[in-house]
Amino acid sequence: MKVAVDLERCQGNGVCARKAPEVFGLDGSGRVTVLQPEPRPDVHRSVREAVRRCPTQALTIEA
Ligand code: SF4
Repeated sequence: MKVAVDLERCQGNGVCARKAPEVFGLDGSGRVTVLQPEPRPDVHRSVREAVRRCPTQALTIEA
C-alpha cells in the first residue's frame, strides 16, 4: 500500500490524523503530512477508513 496526498485539496481538518495517527499528521501550515508513505500492514484498515472519511477526497491509495 502507498498513500498519496493532493495538498491542493487538503483543508487541514485533521480527520485523517484522528483515524490513523501513525500515518497522518498535520504540519505547521495546517496541511496533512504523511508520516508513513508506505504504511505497515497493521494500519491498513485505519488508513482505508481515513481515506474514505477525508471530506475533500485529498487522499488516495495506490495499490
Ligand atoms: S482528512 Fe483530508 S482534508 Fe483533512 S487533513 Fe486529512 S487529507 Fe487534509
